[in-house]
Amino acid sequence: MSHARRHTTKAPAVDEAAADEGPLPADPATRPAYQKYDVSVRKSRIDGFGAFAAEDIPPHRKIGEIRGESISVAEARRRAAGRQRIMIVEVSTRKAIDASQSQDPMRFTNHSCRPNARLSIRDGRIEFYALRAIAPGDEITVNYGETHHEGTLACRCGAPGCAGWL
Ligand SMILES: [Zn+2]
Repeated sequence: MSHARRHTTKAPAVDEAAADEGPLPADPATRPAYQKYDVSVRKSRIDGFGAFAAEDIPPHRKIGEIRGESISVAEARRRAAGRQRIMIVEVSTRKAIDASQSQDPMRFTNHSCRPNARLSIRDGRIEFYALRAIAPGDEITVNYGETHHEGTLACRCGAPGCAGWL
């Protein structure tokens, strides 16, 4: 896990509206090789849309990645300023990935204070790994860690012991 300050939040509302057309294609033949397990995008009880397992995911396995536009951290902070829903992750002290235009289902992954997966920033990649077995239909969640909201956004993850804020 990178120690770099990360901006990890959700996609812009405009993109969520587009997802009303239905789940993203889940055919293994059409998903990229870095998306290891079948994940579908549906309405979430936590917030907006979420990423849901569409098949069994064993513990500790890589689920998938989010890929996107490589930008500078300075540009990432400019884009993040004043926006509630963004999908930008700082992958080093100098580089960030803006996945706002990404088709990767993992970009819809919601925060939970008791997540079943974790985010790993490694070699400039944004990867997701299962913390435990995840069953079909389970929403995949991670702990975002520090976000650009800096503790001002209410958390609605519903987990026992929820920290309350992002
Ligand atoms: Zn919470």
